[in-house]
Amino acid sequence: MAAMTRLFRSSSAVFSIRRSLSSAAATEFKPQPSPPRVDPKARNVQWVFLGCPGVGKGTYASRLSVLLGVPHIATGDLVREELNSSGPMSKQLEEIVNQGKLVSDEIIINLLSKRLESGESKGESGFILDGFPRTVRQAEILNDVTDIDLVVNLKLPEQVLIDKCLGRRICSQCGKNFNVATIDVKGENGNPDIYMDPLLPPPHCASKLITRSDDTESIVKQRLAVYTEKSQPVEDFYRRQGKLLEFVIPGGIPESLPKLLEALNLDENEEKQSATV
Ligand code: ADP
Repeated sequence: MAAMTRLFRSSSAVFSIRRSLSSAAATEFKPQPSPPRVDPKARNVQWVFLGCPGVGKGTYASRLSVLLGVPHIATGDLVREELNSSGPMSKQLEEIVNQGKLVSDEIIINLLSKRLESGESKGESGFILDGFPRTVRQAEILNDVTDIDLVVNLKLPEQVLIDKCLGRRICSQCGKNFNVATIDVKGENGNPDIYMDPLLPPPHCASKLITRSDDTESIVKQRLAVYTEKSQPVEDFYRRQGKLLEFVIPGGIPESLPKLLEALNLDENEEKQSATV
């Protein structure tokens, strides 16, 4: 482990992530246990979204990134871009992802560093990370290079996660995510019922829908097991730092988004304004 730390600390990947992240942190918020009230004129939050596959990290992180004016950076998207390219790692990544396993910390840090550097050169500042960190090692590296202000941990029952992954569809042209599943789960052990309407595509996307190759039942179950083993300890890592905000998703986006904004001390009217920009 220590050798690994030295390797990452001395690797060019970490130096580049350090450069990118530290410059993004130039006007950072101080870490605090409860969500900061965001000053609309000085938005460059550094937030992380955690949660199991299918929980909706991308859905909520992308909406908040519009509201907060920071990039939404999903390492899963970076992996898929690389996998679909004709680059040297493409085959290797395809095999790992289709087994529901995690890509090595080193590859992920490299992909993330490149993404942060290209954003920095375009004047991006702050971020919402989605799908990173996913191992304690990644969390430690991130911790070494910058301050994360807040970590939002999204939660849903396992059966809902599986149904949502199996219902997920992506428009092969515009890249938007949709979901054809209707979720209607009776709450057990005092938990509330959960109902979610499908998120159907507009007609111009409907004929172009594709399914992610790793969204089959067996691979989703494998990804959930990997999450429990490798990523749940990341929740504890941030819980100990007092940065973890737990949010149990109560239903579909119309019901859940206002509640999430409230939990984050964000103003829904501001959200509506920026959503129309
Ligand atoms: P999900 O959260 O639905 O499982 P993602 O789109 O975030 O899916 O990630 C897809 C795949 O990309 C993961 O199963 C894993 O193989 C790889 N991946 C994404 N982020 C990371 C990461 N931080 N560390 C290692 N592997 C990752």
